Amino acid sequence: MQLNFIANQSIPAQGGQTIEMLDPSNGQAFDHIQRSQAADIDQAVQAARAAFKGPWGQQSAMERGRLLMRLSQKITEHAAELTALEQRDCGKPTKQAAADTVALARYFEFYAGACDKLHGETLPYQNGYSVLTWREPHGVTGHVIPWNYPMQIFGRSVGGALAAGNACVVKPSEDACLSLIRVAQLAAEVGFPPGAINIVTGLGHEVGDALARHPGIDHISFTGSPRVGTLIQQMAAERHCPVTLELGGKSPQIIFEDADLDAAIPVVVNAIVQNAGQTCSAGSRVLIQQSIYEALLQRLGDAFERLQVGTAEMNLDLGPLIRASQMNRVTEFLNQAQTEGIATVAKGFIAQGVPHGGFYQAPVLLRDVPVMHRLAQEEVFGPVLSAMAFSDEDHAVEMANSTEFGLVAGIWTRDGGRQFRMAKRVRSGQVFINNYGAGGGVELPFGGVKSSGYGREKGFEALLGFTTLKTVAIQHG
Ligand code: NAD
Repeated sequence: MQLNFIANQSIPAQGGQTIEMLDPSNGQAFDHIQRSQAADIDQAVQAARAAFKGPWGQQSAMERGRLLMRLSQKITEHAAELTALEQRDCGKPTKQAAADTVALARYFEFYAGACDKLHGETLPYQNGYSVLTWREPHGVTGHVIPWNYPMQIFGRSVGGALAAGNACVVKPSEDACLSLIRVAQLAAEVGFPPGAINIVTGLGHEVGDALARHPGIDHISFTGSPRVGTLIQQMAAERHCPVTLELGGKSPQIIFEDADLDAAIPVVVNAIVQNAGQTCSAGSRVLIQQSIYEALLQRLGDAFERLQVGTAEMNLDLGPLIRASQMNRVTEFLNQAQTEGIATVAKGFIAQGVPHGGFYQAPVLLRDVPVMHRLAQEEVFGPVLSAMAFSDEDHAVEMANSTEFGLVAGIWTRDGGRQFRMAKRVRSGQVFINNYGAGGGVELPFGGVKSSGYGREKGFEALLGFTTLKTVAIQHG
């Protein structure tokens, strides 16, 4: 049984209710978490406020940095344990869960080094004045986290908020949260004062809602679906609480006829099968120049046919999807493709011996998907890649920008001028040229435009969002 972690204490939810945790590899319950309510959020917010006003808020930037570094080292010492938790909870192949643990440690390392490098400026003003700016923490920050990359998203969101001096209340996803409860315990062990990091588990519409509405939350960082992102904004707007929104994507991989296809193919395939396609920045559309369309589809199809899906422990190319409803969602998209005559180029396969009850979906490559079709417009959030052909740069830009999203884009061409032209014209928060970093790059600011959200996490840029700027004007004559 997993408990909440508030003020460095493991405690049950006040209402005494729990939620079953399912192992996506076999669909069986293997643990329980607390089904918290508004009273538990209130308790956590009070603990965070006390930490912010007290021992945590009084630490110098240098001391904060040292604590974050100790947590990074502790995570590395406990890497095997955290990897095992994440693997079971999310159904991730071991290699993916291990990579997520490394990324978590790296976030705390990066933000440890950033704590004492965040500073304001002095500004020229009228004679007889000195004007300076201070970067101050918001106070108590709320973090609503999805199930697809719990550790990575905790690292980038909570790591940045702590580095800036905030105390954090974290609401992980009810579908996967065990690793985060453990990380908060490890933080207490390395010396984070009570209340600096609090974890309250439960259902989104109950405890997530309570967090977003709580008057003691000074900033909300939300990562999740556009639908819930809208609700969070509405709740936050009631009390003018600033929000950072990291939402969905329908990211294009744009491949020109002069591209290095040997380099592109494995990256394009990985960008849709990583985490079984359950990645906000999954490269879920591949836009291919007409002259190489058939040849490249053939090669991508060959690669898809070799992809294997299995249990997390089998450590194959893909693990199961997170839950039955996610599998139903992917199946519904694929059924629609079939009924409407959208052709399948190739499919991967489910390995022999996977247990009954697991949420397995073979990866699928579809061709000639109409630009405005749901499959080319909406997040499937599964291993489904939609291919379509373009004629020239203008056509590629039009197709790339045709969705409501704008998170990441990949551009594959050897033409230097085209690389810059395309990077400027594609509307997205990140552009990768001749590479693709689905979720990668702790140092690289990340976030979207349009319905993919706003604000940036990762990199130094995130610290600007986790602080507020105060201008101090001194008249001294
Ligand atoms: P979700 O929106 O259903 O849930 C995200 C979080 O919000 C969970 O913790 C959930 O409990 C909580 N929540 C749900 N309803 C709520 C409510 N009414 N009030 C407050 N909180 C509520 O998303 P998900 O299914 O967990 O994750 C998948 C989505 O997240 C996809 O759309 C994906 O693209 C997006 N995502 C975005 C990024 C990014 O950085 N842009 C990263 C990962 C995932």
